[in-house]
Amino acid sequence: MSPPAAAAVRDRLRIAIQKSGRLGEPSRALLTACGLEFRESRDRLFCYGESLPIDLLLVRDDDIPGLLADGVCDLGIVGRNVLAEQSAERRAAGKPEVAREWRALGFGACRLDLAVPESWDWQGAAQLAGKRIATSYPALVRAWLAEQGIAAEVVLLSGSVEIAPRLGQADLICDLVSSGATLAANQLKPVQTLLQSEAVLAGPVREFADARGQWASLLLRRMDGVLRLKDSRLLLFQAAREAVPALIELLPDAEPPTVMRLDGEDMLALQALCHGAVTWQRLEELRHAGARGLMVVPVERTLA
Ligand code: ATP
Ligand code: ZN
Repeated sequence: MSPPAAAAVRDRLRIAIQKSGRLGEPSRALLTACGLEFRESRDRLFCYGESLPIDLLLVRDDDIPGLLADGVCDLGIVGRNVLAEQSAERRAAGKPEVAREWRALGFGACRLDLAVPESWDWQGAAQLAGKRIATSYPALVRAWLAEQGIAAEVVLLSGSVEIAPRLGQADLICDLVSSGATLAANQLKPVQTLLQSEAVLAGPVREFADARGQWASLLLRRMDGVLRLKDSRLLLFQAAREAVPALIELLPDAEPPTVMRLDGEDMLALQALCHGAVTWQRLEELRHAGARGLMVVPVERTLA
């Protein structure tokens, strides 16, 4: 067996996030919710972790997979679209996988869609044979075309992809879409989704073999706690013992409730952590099924 390639042993963890743009603020907010505090350097490229040995690197989102591959940073918060494109590029070049998705983070949602001129009568992928597709995601588009068994030309554009059909540079496009307003403004319509995207925590394929592993697991545990609590509320109520099974059935998104007996009465007190929105309507249904003294309480933190 050949020895593993010498890896730099480090005792601080380094996370790359987008410096500005759509993912910058929410990425920082997530890390702050995980209890990380940073001291900013003057160049605003590197932020030193003051509460834990976890530092920040503020970069362009497109650079994050490469920084992970080169070992310059250990983790990164990046759109799945960017991570998937650069992974597909590595695969196409026969290079080994170096980064993978560790967690989906629930913000920065968008789709990578094929969009055609509104005048097209869309019949399906076979229609794309011989057409020119403008995109900033050539590796993902090529991989998808190969999967479909379709030969089409990929035209690489780094920006303003949506105007390419009007300029005659391409017949259709493949681009990120969230509301669809940009497509509509350019007389295009989405016809096929290649990838559902959101911000993800990207990390190495293998686990860390040094002290970084401990900080990575601590961060993951905290992140899971924060993500799990996003819409979570603690629901408190009282009910007669016979009513409890029916009430629990009305709470499919809740963890198994804690049940306490109230002294000298036939009533039970229950508390249940609900992971879906607890609306007025749900409270009314619970009341109808016998719950009394309903109270919805925000949850600050949990630790499994
Ligand atoms: P940078 O200067 O860091 O390279 P950028 O212009 O490439 O920034 P943004 O436009 O800030 O990047 O987008 C960052 C990520 O936000 C995208 O890769 C994608 O994952 C996500 N995103 C969510 N909605 C959209 C959208 N409607 N258009 C583009 N990206 C979106
Ligand atoms: Zn970018």
